Amino acid sequence: MAPLRPQVLFPLFAPATALPGIGPRLSQLVERLAGPKVVNLLWHLPAGLVDRRFAPKIGDAPPGKVATLTVEVLAHAPSPPRNKRVPYRITCGDDTGKITLVFFHAHADYLEKQLPVGETRVVSGKIELFDGKRQMTHPDHIGTLAEIDDIKRVEAVHPLTEGLSPKTLDKAIRAAVALAPELPEWQDAAYLKRQGWAGWRESLRAVHAPKSEDELALLTPARSRLAFDELLSNQLALALMRLKARTRRGRSLTGDGSLRKKIEAAVPYALTGAQKRAIEEIIADLASENRMLRLLQGDVGSGKTIVALLAMAAAVESGLQAALMAPTEILAQQHFDTIRPLAEAAGIRIEALTGRVKGAARAAMLEDVAAGRVQILVGTHALIQKDVEFHDLAFAVIDEQHRFGVHQRLELGNKGNGTDVLVMTATPIPRTLTLTAYGDMDVSRLDEKPPGRAPVDTRLVSLERLEEIVEAVGRATAKDAKVYWVCPLVEESERSDLAAAEARFAHLKERFGAKVALLHGQMKASDKDAAMERFAHGDARILVATTVIEVGVDVPDATIIVIEHAERFGLAQLHQLRGRIGRGGKPGTCLLLYTAPLTETAKSRLSTLRDTEDGFLIAEEDLRLRGSGEVLGTRQSGLPEFKLADVMIHGELVAAARDDARLILARDPDLTTERGQALRTLLYLFEQDDAVRTLRSG
Ligand code: ADP
Ligand code: MG
Repeated sequence: MAPLRPQVLFPLFAPATALPGIGPRLSQLVERLAGPKVVNLLWHLPAGLVDRRFAPKIGDAPPGKVATLTVEVLAHAPSPPRNKRVPYRITCGDDTGKITLVFFHAHADYLEKQLPVGETRVVSGKIELFDGKRQMTHPDHIGTLAEIDDIKRVEAVHPLTEGLSPKTLDKAIRAAVALAPELPEWQDAAYLKRQGWAGWRESLRAVHAPKSEDELALLTPARSRLAFDELLSNQLALALMRLKARTRRGRSLTGDGSLRKKIEAAVPYALTGAQKRAIEEIIADLASENRMLRLLQGDVGSGKTIVALLAMAAAVESGLQAALMAPTEILAQQHFDTIRPLAEAAGIRIEALTGRVKGAARAAMLEDVAAGRVQILVGTHALIQKDVEFHDLAFAVIDEQHRFGVHQRLELGNKGNGTDVLVMTATPIPRTLTLTAYGDMDVSRLDEKPPGRAPVDTRLVSLERLEEIVEAVGRATAKDAKVYWVCPLVEESERSDLAAAEARFAHLKERFGAKVALLHGQMKASDKDAAMERFAHGDARILVATTVIEVGVDVPDATIIVIEHAERFGLAQLHQLRGRIGRGGKPGTCLLLYTAPLTETAKSRLSTLRDTEDGFLIAEEDLRLRGSGEVLGTRQSGLPEFKLADVMIHGELVAAARDDARLILARDPDLTTERGQALRTLLYLFEQDDAVRTLRSG
């Protein structure tokens, strides 16, 4: 039986509508802000606080300060019937003076009920001075004397979304926190003690009830504890997945090297030392009985493709099949085009399966794959569709894997029996992030570029000089240069990117006519091919594109790249884009067009890019300047998004969580001990249900 979420967590996994004040309408706002369930609100931490404990007499209340006043309601002065712009005023007083409460667009009934003349009320808000008199505009809180303790406190301020009032959200979050049950301790007792950390529930309560600005910091004991819980759940889940992948019997693939020899003979260059090392590591993994789960990390242009091909050839030498999955059709097609001649030189049968292969052709291809006649299959997501069956898939390579979700990544490996998996990424992810994204995966690095790479001259240019750039591009293309022109990421929406690219295309076409081609993600596959083909081998000299070219596109003789609104891209993404040029041995030029004025951070980011071509340095800098969540420029980075942990601040905790997860599984691989059971609860709490499912039993 599959293990189930423990009952003690049920209240936390109820929909947010279970919370007071959250109806169906507001629950949509809550969902947008934090998530659909009660538990999501637990992770919605205060970003600030308002201290309402200051409770002076009216006469002592200094303007500009937030104060909680106990007052008698003296008189109402409603807005005149025909002039709603004049506010509704209510005069209140105590034995030291008077204050006016001011309400714009007020509902008279409501105010009469809340603040009846002659009654005592508690109001809290900012004291203002108007015409020499004290007033308070729209008090944050109005209550009776009985409610004073609930008002006169340090109030947490949460990040908000439009339409959701702070009061409503605060109430809902407090209710969510109150629902949090006492849970069995999943952390190692000695470690907790050494860190001076409290239990989960106590820590949760503490982070939601800061008493001072200091307590909002990320390194308070309470916050660190919760961050560590989150990181441990992440590391444990990754370790479990890996354990499962590993214990599923792998098999030993030992080819005779004959196909590899033929491919190497057909390659027009010598492999770099780094490439040779990576291939050796992969071949050793293939030969071992364990299932391989390896990451091949190499900056753009470091030559991952040939490494993948040689490794796939080794699988084919053993009489089995290999597959290579890429995130876009352009990329899959390009892989196919570069790999095919080499594979065929070795007599390997290779096919490409993408969304565009349809009908009878697709059926025939699938039959050949199922019969084992196709030895290497290259493709997109189309590879992981249900009806794609391999005869015997021994080795799967996933390229530019950050574009795929964890599941898609694993799914290709599941098409075979104990399939060895290699994932390749060009994104030079810093070590800490690698850990959170892959856990303890084996890593091979291509830290050496193929020779003959020319440096790229990167310049920052204000968009005001657009016409000069267009002129320069015109001159360069007249001398046969090829230019990528990348259009701005207006927002994270394909459509607006598209509009910008189309407008620029029209503009450049007016000047340069048929020399200009357009490429974007919404185009029909055949049109994409045609555009790429015209740019790679035809008459097109300028390729206007959205960021579809970011990943892996290889046109070696392109030497110039213009990136509009460079300030809107992530650094890593810009680095990827820049990697499109300087490939053919001719020096490249990268023009980063920005809209003035640049913020200090933007200036500093773009300067980093101008000053170095070292992908790792750039990634570290990006991480430092922007925080881990945005390193890859998009939310679909495939990296986990943490709610409580910040891998920059809690970097040491990441490593500690990794070590802890390793130790836990070494001692208790099925999580059956008392602590193991508690850890299952932790995994459920952080919605790592898939990881728990890898366990044999509850
Ligand atoms: P990436 O790591 O970005 O996927 P590719 O595999 O696309 O890099 O290789 C980039 C370019 O470098 C290709 O044109 C490829 O033919 C070339 N290349 C790869 N390895 C070498 C090498 N050892 N020497 C020279 N050129 C190489
Ligand atoms: Mg590549």
